[in-house]
Amino acid sequence: MLNINNLHLTIEGNPILNGLSLDVPAGEVHAIMGPNGSGKSTLSYSIAGRPGYAPQEGSVTLNGENLLDLDPNERAAKGVFLSFQSPVAIPGVATMNFLRTALNAQRSARGEEEMSAAEFLKVFREKAQVVGLTPEKLKRPFNDGYSGGEKKRMEMLQMALFEPRFAIMDETDSGLDIDALKMVGEVVNSLRSPERGFLVITHYQRLLDYIKPDAVHVLAGGRIVKSGGPELARALEEGGYEQFTEAA
Ligand code: ADP
Ligand code: MG
Ligand code: MG
Repeated sequence: MLNINNLHLTIEGNPILNGLSLDVPAGEVHAIMGPNGSGKSTLSYSIAGRPGYAPQEGSVTLNGENLLDLDPNERAAKGVFLSFQSPVAIPGVATMNFLRTALNAQRSARGEEEMSAAEFLKVFREKAQVVGLTPEKLKRPFNDGYSGGEKKRMEMLQMALFEPRFAIMDETDSGLDIDALKMVGEVVNSLRSPERGFLVITHYQRLLDYIKPDAVHVLAGGRIVKSGGPELARALEEGGYEQFTEAA
């Protein structure tokens, strides 16, 4: 599914990613943990194609297709999803219309039929309920006056609606209470499928109690320094990153 090989990324002369390699097979959920500033968000931006985050060296392929040659919209059309991290409020555009337009743009890019307003409304209501966003909240402009927790719920609503092939979640769990964490786990678990992959960036083992990852990787100094199973996340929670970062 997702293959990252020897990725190097330098920003303003500072090496951020230093030969990062990572494989996420189809059907699997991989977690990435690592100290602040180790390059986790940079990695997710470089996969999604955020401007300013084009690697100088290395490759990123999704099902054998080179993503680095594609612009962000083309990557999204291939099913790469990165939840909007600091989503801007869009005044005057109701959330539902905004998301329907975004979803239909993606569907037509994939050669799929657009969803009718009625069809969308049904799915939207169903999924909004799963993520715990009320209809009143969703009548407001997109992300306008949302709390931190509500923005995270909105990220999960986007993911549930877009049904991506490969989803990257960048610290979706930070600042969430237990109920919201469970909700994030539910959304991920409901989307798990043999054709879909996930990269879940997190600081806390707690989320991984709900999302049982197939693998856990430690990112430090711009590369993966340790990989293991869920027990690695518990070791990190207990002993911190230092035990694994000396070699980085
Ligand atoms: P993490 O998500 O692991 O906390 P980031 O990927 O956000 O780390 O950042 C890794 C390093 O890259 C940091 O030192 C950060 O300051 C630097 N960095 C990321 N983006 C930029 C940018 N646009 N300009 C300058 N430095 C950047
Ligand atoms: Mg980050
Ligand atoms: Mg790093």
